[in-house]
Amino acid sequence: MFILKGIEQLEKAIAKAKKVRPRVEFDHFGRYRVSGSKGYYTVICRKDERGYKTVACTCKGAEKGLVCYHAASALSLHVALARREQVALIKATSANEMNAAPYLKPSIERPVERVGGIRIN
Ligand SMILES: [Zn+2]
Repeated sequence: MFILKGIEQLEKAIAKAKKVRPRVEFDHFGRYRVSGSKGYYTVICRKDERGYKTVACTCKGAEKGLVCYHAASALSLHVALARREQVALIKATSANEMNAAPYLKPSIERPVERVGGIRIN
């Protein structure tokens, strides 16, 4: 497992992922299956209780704390999904705000002069 601090630490793993082109299967948000030399590995991306973004992979390299290409591959999908989730969240928030907005009475007040075609005063 490693803590994700920036894109720099992923550079090598991303380069390898581009070469190997592993299959990334979506399990659920934050959990992915990535094909490797010995079958599929599970990659888990999550925020721990201190707010650190952690990435864990079940392969041998990741056990030693290395940033593996499985993690990099899963992260590229995870980041895209997280971004979409955030957009959805923002949309939901602004929709709620619209509903919570106080109802404003029409500010233009005009005496009623006519109802239909009948003059009333
Ligand atoms: Zn791995």
